[in-house]
Amino acid sequence: MPRIEVRCTVDNCYFWAENNYCNAESILITSDQAAQKYPESVDVSNTAMIVQEIGETPAQNCQETACKTFFRR
Ligand code: SF4
Repeated sequence: MPRIEVRCTVDNCYFWAENNYCNAESILITSDQAAQKYPESVDVSNTAMIVQEIGETPAQNCQETACKTFFRR
């Protein structure tokens, strides 16, 4: 299982932690197009199921990507 450090500046997210770290167990990034099709935040526990449902969603640049794990606190 890959393990990476996620830094994030979205400080009103439930998973955001001090010094701009992401504390989520895993996160799901999709293209904006897919994010609009599935407007709800993705529950960490069912990320695998959602990934299977969404499939692959290419983007042209970073502005076209979104964190689907974001959950407003
Ligand atoms: S879940 Fe997404 S938006 Fe929330 S802190 Fe982590 S990377 Fe940022």
